[in-house]
Amino acid sequence: MTTGVWVLGDQLWTEQAALSSYFPEKKNTPVILIESLKYAQQRPYHRQKLVLIWSAMRHFAEELRQNNWSVTYEIANDFEAPLQAWVKKHKITELRVMNPNDRPFTQIVNNLKLNCQITLVANNHFLWSSSDFQKWAASQKSLIMENFYRSGRKRFQILMEGNQPVGGKWNFDKQNRQPPKGKLNTPEALWFEPDQTTLEVINTVNSLDFPSYGDAEPFRWAVTRSQALQALDFFLKHRLPMFGPYQDAMVTGEETMWHSMLSPYLNIGLLNPMEVIMAAQRAYHQNKLDLNSVEGFIRQVLGWREYLHGVYHYMEADYPESNWFNHTRSLPAFYWNAQKTDMNCLRQVLEQVQRTGYAHHIQRLMVLSNFALISGISPQAIEDWFHGAFIDAHDWVMQTNVIGMGQFADGGILASKPYVASANYINKMSDYCGKCVYQYQERTGEKACPFNLLYWNFLARHREQLKSQGRLNLMLHHLDRISIEEATKINQDAANWLNKIDAAT
Ligand code: SF4
Repeated sequence: MTTGVWVLGDQLWTEQAALSSYFPEKKNTPVILIESLKYAQQRPYHRQKLVLIWSAMRHFAEELRQNNWSVTYEIANDFEAPLQAWVKKHKITELRVMNPNDRPFTQIVNNLKLNCQITLVANNHFLWSSSDFQKWAASQKSLIMENFYRSGRKRFQILMEGNQPVGGKWNFDKQNRQPPKGKLNTPEALWFEPDQTTLEVINTVNSLDFPSYGDAEPFRWAVTRSQALQALDFFLKHRLPMFGPYQDAMVTGEETMWHSMLSPYLNIGLLNPMEVIMAAQRAYHQNKLDLNSVEGFIRQVLGWREYLHGVYHYMEADYPESNWFNHTRSLPAFYWNAQKTDMNCLRQVLEQVQRTGYAHHIQRLMVLSNFALISGISPQAIEDWFHGAFIDAHDWVMQTNVIGMGQFADGGILASKPYVASANYINKMSDYCGKCVYQYQERTGEKACPFNLLYWNFLARHREQLKSQGRLNLMLHHLDRISIEEATKINQDAANWLNKIDAAT
């Protein structure tokens, strides 16, 4: 009887459930990691995402070897052939895999034809297991994130004094929405020079003969647990103290502001969520940091991250096909090539994503996703783009974040309202509009901002559905106050504008 472990590319820590299930002798326990070229061709992935995953896998394989595991590392076309050969060579009778985070990967595991038993070990990557989440959901009328987050605060006793939140409030969002004003003294980011292993992966990625996206270099992300811990420590010292106030602000040339940049590491196991939360809580108590900053950060990890994962597994398998507004437009070509748009906000954010694989949550939600929603782009097309373009993207986070939160395609299961906005919001929260060829104040005419045309046109097109939701009634009331002549002109201009981008797609 020989048991072997298959470690997936987003399960890179030694206490993950399959590796930490009982093994008498690590040295005699076969472990395999596989880079599959076929898997990397599912969509055009960002080159830095491929570098991150493959380099982190190679480094983790080395760490396991040093800890006396018997490690096989394969680069192959698919997963099945190297698994079959490895099972045969080591006479493996049971293959253990930690239950994948992503449903499509569970399908891959279930469809494998191997000459051994396959055991899926319960996943320990998240604080809330799927059954924990189900129990919570069963006790609720609807799946409101704020209620889930409060349950998490109580359950894990984070920022709590007994049964009450520290500071007397659960939420300090109002203090965390400051628009950028004047010169912001943003801190440096901590980046890492690629080592020999990473340089080899960069070469491989640069020579791939299938479509991928973005720049492979400069690649400066952490690829080991030790580097990820340094990134965490740097965030706590230099960014967390001011994380809150400007977390929604967008400034040209300020790509990371006070953001933590930890999600790529959390999502592949180089950091675990509880150590990050506890470290932030410790920093709050020891360094007397502002509660709005610490609570705002902990909300992202203990609240949003756990919630999106919980909802993903709670919903039926057809959730990714949701399309409440019945949007079918193809993705404009400029999402893949920022040079093809003259809208400054989109261009700034898309250029940044091409260079780094990263944009912060408001750039994602209120620029990239907002534009897709008000333009009527298919939710599945924009989800696929987000999944390919971002360094921290995985199926569990993008299906819920884009289909549910960004596109409101589930009709309000996840988000309490559609996140749509005109140029007013972008102008308030960024410096993009001042350098744009369009006028953010205009909603008709040649220089009218397309966000304005599309926003009012979106409200008009979906008036009845939006009325049923209630949360946008104030904006529908504003829509009703626009004269028939102006509304007709806005709708014509919006149609012309959409025809133009369709023709260029
Ligand atoms: Fe974007 Fe419109 Fe502002 Fe230009 S004017 S940056 S297109 S919101």
